[in-house]
Amino acid sequence: MNHIDLDHRHAVVTGGARGIGLAIANRLIASGASVSLWDRDAELLKAAQNQLREKSSPSIEIVDVSDADSVNAATEATVTKHGTIDILVANAGIAGPNHKTWEYPVDAWKQIIDINLTGIFLCCRAIVPHMLRQDYGRIVNVASIAGKEGNPNASAYSASKAGVIALTKSLGKETAHKDISVNCITPAAARTRIFDQMAKEHIDFMLSRIPRGRFLEVDEVAAMVAWLVSEENSFTTGAVFDLSGGRATY
Ligand code: NAD
Repeated sequence: MNHIDLDHRHAVVTGGARGIGLAIANRLIASGASVSLWDRDAELLKAAQNQLREKSSPSIEIVDVSDADSVNAATEATVTKHGTIDILVANAGIAGPNHKTWEYPVDAWKQIIDINLTGIFLCCRAIVPHMLRQDYGRIVNVASIAGKEGNPNASAYSASKAGVIALTKSLGKETAHKDISVNCITPAAARTRIFDQMAKEHIDFMLSRIPRGRFLEVDEVAAMVAWLVSEENSFTTGAVFDLSGGRATY
């Protein structure tokens, strides 16, 4: 494992209670950061906190990222406890069900956009002012290969992740005059509990589209994020980092 220096940095990882978020939290702690896990699932948060406790006990906040009041309260609580937020990994997200666009349930569409896109907007909206004040910040928004390619039977998810890519580009330009970087990543499928929300045919489709011929590992995501949130990432901003195993060569 490469050594990335995140000493004295405080990181918020949303959706940090399991899956990709938990792997990222683990890696950031291994790199010297202190971490706050934000998630809407209180039981999972406790379990994650216990799992990470041996290395460095993370703070936990029960947050619904799609709710502005909840995000604002968690931001204030985190800044009060830790003095600052240097790093935001906006990772919380859901897949939602698989349907053709013309059959997509309207409620499911709205929920996916609320969590995956508005949730990242709300977290950035609450935390960026703190980064502007201290003239330092590193943000990674978790998009998806679906946001570049548009997966069939997943239009809500794909549209939400395309929105995350555009939001990242806008915010990157707005903060580029400061020592703040805002980038996003576009992972291919990684075997996490998010698969529980998808049809088996959809999972098979995603695997068939990966030239590497295997699923992405969560630690591979964490390795890329660890560098993106480090001080050394001082120039690149508003960019999209590919983790698609060769599927997207753009
Ligand atoms: P996961 O389901 O294992 O974990 C998601 C976490 O987010 C859970 O702990 C959940 O409780 C939390 N969460 C969901 N809605 C929330 C809300 N409203 N507020 C706060 N927390 C909430 O999924 P994962 O695979 O770890 O996915 C993490 C991110 O990576 C998501 O944004 C997902 O879209 C993205 N992604 C995943 C894959 C994949 O194949 N696993 C591929 C590309 C992108």
